[in-house]
Amino acid sequence: MGDNLQVAELFYSIQGESTRAGLPCAFIRLSGCNLRCSWCDSSYTWQETGRAMTSDGIMSWLAAYPGSLVEITGGEPLLQEGVYRLMERLQAAGHEVLLESNGSLPLDRVPLAVSIIMDIKCPGSGMAGHNLAANIDLLAKRCRQGGRDEIKFVISSEEDFAWAAGLTEDRGLTGWCPVLFSPVRDRMDPGRLAGLILERQLRVRLQLQLHTLLWPEAARGV
Ligand code: SF4
Repeated sequence: MGDNLQVAELFYSIQGESTRAGLPCAFIRLSGCNLRCSWCDSSYTWQETGRAMTSDGIMSWLAAYPGSLVEITGGEPLLQEGVYRLMERLQAAGHEVLLESNGSLPLDRVPLAVSIIMDIKCPGSGMAGHNLAANIDLLAKRCRQGGRDEIKFVISSEEDFAWAAGLTEDRGLTGWCPVLFSPVRDRMDPGRLAGLILERQLRVRLQLQLHTLLWPEAARGV
């Protein structure tokens, strides 16, 4: 039961969206999402069923990349109970593990040694009402305990920027974890976002999706 996973894709690529951007990384992309962001670039994870795999099958695939950085992403990976067993096994095998989550579900069962990259959804996504407020406090606690979590805002407009900047300042987010501001492709000009960050003197990290620069035509597997 707890060991079955629906998998959208497995691939080895360059990490493109965190402070680990640029590192080779094995990606485990799980199927299913409880949100429907207006700009979703991975809708195949919730429009298609994916394939059923056990953690054994995933670990077998991963054997080709011993010791590599591993990222579990989606969709929303925490929708699947089997992800907890998978995280345990990946850690036991000596992998550094990243977990991307859309921030709408409780993160309290994620091991401290797994680095969470948590989205805070901006109004332009249409999903800001789904942000789970308690997760910010939880991440602050984890970071005080030595966790290496990160917060990511995906920015689709100047209104999104103002909203994200306000929340970053009000909650003092940059005082305890890396905060990433990432422009939505074809909606927010990266140069304009850079200018806005500098004007406001925010201590956030401008995050360009490295994989989309390297492989602009690829919709999957990067
Ligand atoms: S949370 Fe991620 S996968 Fe889900 S709809 Fe939003 S962008 Fe797409």
